[in-house]
Amino acid sequence: MSIITGYSTHDIRFPTSLSGDGTDAMNTDCNYSAAYVILNTTPNADSNAAASDTLKGFGMTFTIGKGNDIVIEAIKQLSDKLVGMPIESLFSDMGAMWELLTSDSQLRWIGPEKGVIHLATGAVANAVWDMYARSRNKPLWKLIVDMTPEEIVKCSSLKYLSDALTPEEAVQMLHERQSTKTEREKRALQEGLRAYSTSVGWMGYTTDKVQRLTKEALDLGFNHFKLKVGVSVDDDLARAKVIRDIIDDPQYQNKDKRVHAKTIEGKNAGPTGNVLMIDANQVWDVEEAIAYVKKLEQCKPWFIEEPTMPDDVLGHARIRKGLKDIGIGVATGEHCANRVLFKQLLQAGAIDVLQIDACRLAGVNECLAVMLLAAKFGVPVCPHAGGVGLCEYVVHLSMIDFISIAPTFDRNVVEWVDHLHEHFKYPVSVNSHGRYNAPLDKSCGYSIEMHQESIEKYTYPDGSYWKYEHPTIISKLQEGRRYV
Ligand SMILES: [Mg+2]
Repeated sequence: MSIITGYSTHDIRFPTSLSGDGTDAMNTDCNYSAAYVILNTTPNADSNAAASDTLKGFGMTFTIGKGNDIVIEAIKQLSDKLVGMPIESLFSDMGAMWELLTSDSQLRWIGPEKGVIHLATGAVANAVWDMYARSRNKPLWKLIVDMTPEEIVKCSSLKYLSDALTPEEAVQMLHERQSTKTEREKRALQEGLRAYSTSVGWMGYTTDKVQRLTKEALDLGFNHFKLKVGVSVDDDLARAKVIRDIIDDPQYQNKDKRVHAKTIEGKNAGPTGNVLMIDANQVWDVEEAIAYVKKLEQCKPWFIEEPTMPDDVLGHARIRKGLKDIGIGVATGEHCANRVLFKQLLQAGAIDVLQIDACRLAGVNECLAVMLLAAKFGVPVCPHAGGVGLCEYVVHLSMIDFISIAPTFDRNVVEWVDHLHEHFKYPVSVNSHGRYNAPLDKSCGYSIEMHQESIEKYTYPDGSYWKYEHPTIISKLQEGRRYV
């Protein structure tokens, strides 16, 4: 029986701070980074098989630069726990695999289930899921939607959630959706999953660039757009107007555009059926958030994302209540440390939209648990994907949500940013209706395998980009710059 023989880790960083990609009111100089792990197994028993046929598992967690090396150290300690384990015994109980990673009594002390250790758990657990899907020649989403309700629930991290959702209730919910599952799978394969664009509205982009990108996004069939806000009301209103003037103008609409009323219900859509969302990335205190967002009322957003500190459950509830009369909702999740925080946000009625992150939560197991929780509370899951590799991951999670879990699937939208997909062997794509195409390659696993050349070039600090190209670019950028 094949066993996990070892692993390699890679600190991969992309210089996105040079272009302003990923910039917002809080994160002003992001270098999109991956703390990356490759799990290796015993060579294929077939002696004629090429070495490249040996099963591997690829996983990563996302950071924005500094500290990526710290996450790598945690990934090593967690990966050590898997070395020597037979892969089929891991695959036979993926819930137990997750318990193994999260229950180390010493490592647990530096969490539990939050921060660096949890980010690292996401990378390692996802690598095992990637390997499992590859071993069955199915994309990850297909591996899971083909499971029985009981099997899905067995893989889900439901510990500490029973006051909100019991395993029996979760099984029951999934059973209720079984009879229409095939129909939804067919639809997802034919139409894809509705995406929204964040690429149009990064804080560091000029007006010209925002205008150009918004028109391009409309051409691509998008009808949901997100703008970063929170530095100045006047500037936010001006940039929101730039976007609204384009998305609300009939002359810029994609001729093939089809918008079903149900999909934009309660989202403050404009006259052409387009929806704007705003994102503050945690810059405000609670009352400040309410006062500030009220000043942005005229740009009619569907929701304000991350208005305040992500741990502040009651603060989010207060903001949601404070904005109810002007019809602006509250969304959060990309910085929510674990499923318990999501449970409390839902129990407190604090959010209108839940935004899971595929690797801030500790991998597929915990994401399944949170999607089940959201389904119980009837809250749409619109995953966070602003980063490297996150779009590749979340399309699988949203396929699972759409087909097997979510009662709100018509209203769900998945974040799309058009950065760095070229580094992945199975990059995600969007179709001409602004929707994610379903990953279909039987070898893609969780779609997170990077090209070897990209790993080598962008490894920090010794990859060829960081060693040779970056210093040259930086010195050119600084030519003629005056320091006072
Ligand atoms: Mg965000």
